[in-house]
Amino acid sequence: MLTIGAFAKACRLSPKALRLYDELELLRPARVDPETGYRYYAVEQLEQARLVAWLRRLGMPLARIRQVCALDGPAAGREIRAYWARVEAETAHRRDLAAFLVDHLTGTSSQKDTAMWELRYAALSDTGLVRPANQDTAYAGARVLAVADGFGSAGAHASTAAVEALKVLDRETFPAGSVLNLLDDAVRGATRAVREAAAADKEAGTTLTAMLWTGSQLALVHIGDSRAYLLRDGELFRITHDHTLVQSMVDEGRLTVEEAAAHPQRPLLLKSLSGDGAAPSPDLRLQDALPGDRYLLCSDGLSRVLTDPDIERTLASVPDPEEATRTLVAGANDAGGPDNVSCVVADVVEAGHFRNL
Ligand code: MG
Repeated sequence: MLTIGAFAKACRLSPKALRLYDELELLRPARVDPETGYRYYAVEQLEQARLVAWLRRLGMPLARIRQVCALDGPAAGREIRAYWARVEAETAHRRDLAAFLVDHLTGTSSQKDTAMWELRYAALSDTGLVRPANQDTAYAGARVLAVADGFGSAGAHASTAAVEALKVLDRETFPAGSVLNLLDDAVRGATRAVREAAAADKEAGTTLTAMLWTGSQLALVHIGDSRAYLLRDGELFRITHDHTLVQSMVDEGRLTVEEAAAHPQRPLLLKSLSGDGAAPSPDLRLQDALPGDRYLLCSDGLSRVLTDPDIERTLASVPDPEEATRTLVAGANDAGGPDNVSCVVADVVEAGHFRNL
């Protein structure tokens, strides 16, 4: 048996920490002297104590460490991997927000607002071949692009309300650099509007993936499992991350991409705008635009039916945005049209280019 001092030295935890972990039932001494109250630890406990010390250095909360310590080696390994994946996702989200703020405060975006580019755009939403009604909403304007996929009995109202709240930004010019606050306000408005629209059904709600054009950049706001893609130099990049249970399980290494595609809980959303009153924080990011860029926003009715190579092929081969949206929707319906399908296609072009044609 080791005294608390000797044990502390051996496992690189302080006696104070060991007393706390005892109280929290994270690491109980092997024996406590009933007379003196002194704690004694067995040599075999060193391994667990060192694990606790390492997990503390990782920044893992104590409650989670207790869970990990109760597992066998492989299960504990999976739990640590899952924890770290979540930390990295959270950090990535904050990194995007930090980049957004740096850009906003240093005025990089306002200098570039003189760029003579504009959007050429089209939006299309279709019921598909199976669903009785269309609960998706798609919108494209000179400044605002949006796709929302409603669910629950008031899903159509919810998706319409969310997009209407963002359309406000399409009506007026705004000072460069204010895009972050504007989007934040718009999403708050959308959250309130969805709550009202879904008042009768707390389970109802909507996804929202939208972009706001500043003249040289596109600010993206994203919540749920609708998606945004960028086609640049003929290559397709997905620029949103699905807020779904299966995506988080893929991130954590619990599921492969193939298993996720066939998973029964595939539609389960971790984040959405919903009638339950919660206001989960959306992903925000700023995209530098280049002439020739083509953006696609779509609901899962497209991305679950067509593969990324299918989508890339259509976007790369159909120059007109309106025709591209029609071709994509037709592709989803040719494949059975199992869900409502919506897409917005927007090209970054030189201003006046279109009018001069
Ligand atoms: Mg859908």
